[in-house]
Amino acid sequence: MPAAVAGPEIERLIQLLARLPGLGPRSARRAALHLIKKRELLMAPLASALQVAMDKIVICGVCGNIDTQNPCTVCTDVKRDPSIIVAVADVADLWALERAHAVSARYHVLGGTLSPLDGVRPQDLAIDSLVSRAHDDAVKEVILALNGTVDGQTTAHYITDLLHNANVKVTRLAHGVPVGGELDYLDEGTLSAAMKQRTLF
Ligand code: ZN
Repeated sequence: MPAAVAGPEIERLIQLLARLPGLGPRSARRAALHLIKKRELLMAPLASALQVAMDKIVICGVCGNIDTQNPCTVCTDVKRDPSIIVAVADVADLWALERAHAVSARYHVLGGTLSPLDGVRPQDLAIDSLVSRAHDDAVKEVILALNGTVDGQTTAHYITDLLHNANVKVTRLAHGVPVGGELDYLDEGTLSAAMKQRTLF
């Protein structure tokens, strides 16, 4: 381990930043230095934004989205089509689809995908609540917007079987989602096209 070049408070800041996705130890060091140089302009507002977010963040009781209100902004948006539920593995996927303006619907965050290898079982995911939402008369379609990975597709098949008795059309994303691909890494155009050309499961 290299010798510390700063006091423990700054080293701690660097260590915490290094845990963020996409930041290694070197870029964490750069980010910390940048924050310190921009103490008034960036560090103070960031610290207070983190504190406010920390105090106010809740998980939506309907869809599982992260927000500062429950039900969330998406669930309470009356301009959205209430007949469509888009099931996603993760909040990052919900946000990616929203960034792409792919669809104006409601969502359901499963909290992951089934994975026998990692020990993720159906009861570990928000599958029961999705099935019960799908039985609402207002819901006509469930779009399974899951990763093109084996786990993603296994999950899609599992849910499709469970929705057999619900009066809904079950669709999945079409072209553009590469085999093994993760939604969050797709560009917005590809994601939007995949949503528009969704196919019946
Ligand atoms: Zn919600």
